[in-house]
Amino acid sequence: MNTATATPLIQGLAWSGEYLIATDPDVVDKRIRRKALSASTGKSMKGCLAKYAAEKLLPREKDPFSVSELGTSTHAIIEDMYNMPADDRTLDAFHALKDSHADIKWSADEFAKVSDTINLTDWEKTKLEWKGEIVRLGARVFEIEDPRQQTTYKTEMSFEGVTIAGGVPAMGFIDRVDVIVVREKDRFKIVDLKTGKMKSAFDLRRYGDDHGDQIRIYSDAVREVTGESAAVGEIHYTQFGTAREIPLSELMMDHTRKDFRAAWDIHNIVTDSGKFPTKTGPLCGWCPLVNACPAAKAAGKSVSDKVKDVPPSAVQLGIPTVRTDAVHFGSKLPVTNPVVEPIAASAAIAAIKSAPSTEFIPLSDTAPADPFAGADTAQTASNSTAHVPDDKADNNGTGTNIMSIAESLFSEGKPWEATINGKLNGASYAAIAVTSIPQMAGELLIEAGRPLNNATIDRLTDLLAEIIITVQKDVRGGEFNWDDGINTRIRGALRTTIETLPLPWDATDEAGWVAWQSTATKRTTIFIKKGLRLFNLGTTIETSSFSSLLPTAVASIASPKPGVQKVA
Ligand code: SF4
Repeated sequence: MNTATATPLIQGLAWSGEYLIATDPDVVDKRIRRKALSASTGKSMKGCLAKYAAEKLLPREKDPFSVSELGTSTHAIIEDMYNMPADDRTLDAFHALKDSHADIKWSADEFAKVSDTINLTDWEKTKLEWKGEIVRLGARVFEIEDPRQQTTYKTEMSFEGVTIAGGVPAMGFIDRVDVIVVREKDRFKIVDLKTGKMKSAFDLRRYGDDHGDQIRIYSDAVREVTGESAAVGEIHYTQFGTAREIPLSELMMDHTRKDFRAAWDIHNIVTDSGKFPTKTGPLCGWCPLVNACPAAKAAGKSVSDKVKDVPPSAVQLGIPTVRTDAVHFGSKLPVTNPVVEPIAASAAIAAIKSAPSTEFIPLSDTAPADPFAGADTAQTASNSTAHVPDDKADNNGTGTNIMSIAESLFSEGKPWEATINGKLNGASYAAIAVTSIPQMAGELLIEAGRPLNNATIDRLTDLLAEIIITVQKDVRGGEFNWDDGINTRIRGALRTTIETLPLPWDATDEAGWVAWQSTATKRTTIFIKKGLRLFNLGTTIETSSFSSLLPTAVASIASPKPGVQKVA
């Protein structure tokens, strides 16, 4: 980045405690607020929002060797190739396109602009280096597929202005949409090109699958633009000659839609307020603000050794520091989807700020199976906003001041909306789930003749909830939402577990409860999995011996041979 300038790189923003706030009344609307959400902005909403705001003001990278510029050039060359007649898409054509792009970038006119800083020999040398980089990043596309065999419908398909995910205005460009034949029918295949590397399975689990989310957003957008959703979505990692097919199942699509919708909520909250919280984490080392950011300094973060371009200094950035109660200016544009009340906005910001980066993956609500059917529904904020540090209400019921709060603790909406404006929707599936568990705990305490108070209800509620969460994650590949249908089934199975495995009220130490929890978790899992077994048997159940139900078999099950599974 060229930072040789006396003018501050960032103007209109200031540090205020651990926030970056808008001190210029127009900066949010002119530079930061988006009219529609792209997949990349949606991803940014999960990270540091101060970084997001500042990056909108930083000058664009001009270095043709920067990661982003090389990626853009490689994309352009590959897309140009796919715009050629299919038979012409050869490696020779790739090289010819690379050469013609290089001739434009390294033209005589461009040389004239910099001839006082570089001689012609070095200029030609950088041109050759650039071509080498393009080959390194793009030529292995031929290992992924034979471009001559692909039917290209469109490259750089724009979807600005479409509405997806139950009411979110979306925008973006899809690298390529091909036509493929699926079950004798023409269908779309979305292809996104990446010059970076594919995430490992470990990283996908730990940090989420933003590449997959991007393709799923594109799939909904293609449906809006063309009337047909995509049958297949792929990411082509052109530097490495590998591709990954992205699952487009309704389950995964719904998950992505929820995230996208929550990201739009966050975008609107922070731009309405003009207050962008910092969030420190491993990515601080790559952040252009790292040399000036007070939160990064407090957390001991500094520039990563792996960063290629030195980030600007605090002086070059020129971001002033103001008092923590300084005035900040939010958007003056009409409130967009969703409607966010001021109290919810501040609460949501606090929640975003306090959540660890790996945990803040907003999953606020359940979009309807057809996201477009819910386009006029009330909007939701992330589930984090239902539990914020500065809530006056004691939402978890451990204190005494609930009755002193005049405002409603719950919102009301449609069953698939877990929260609305930061409040748990009392009509939601999630509310049904979370309110049923303390009630169950209360019933069990009364049955056992134990006292009913905050401490006993909370402890037993937490125990039951832990079992439900463990079982649900086990059968849902690590995923968990209170409003999932399977959550209801698991709560039912847990009731049966408790009937068949009474709670250890006579335990005299912790170990008795720990052992019960372990056995109850296993038993509840087995009840759920046995249901799946039954489903898989179909409607024809083969006749078999009743020997396992005879008294002798019961005795042998009680003392199984080594290697024989015993029901918990
Ligand atoms: S250095 Fe870290 S906390 Fe500060 S703005 Fe950048 S990403 Fe956010």
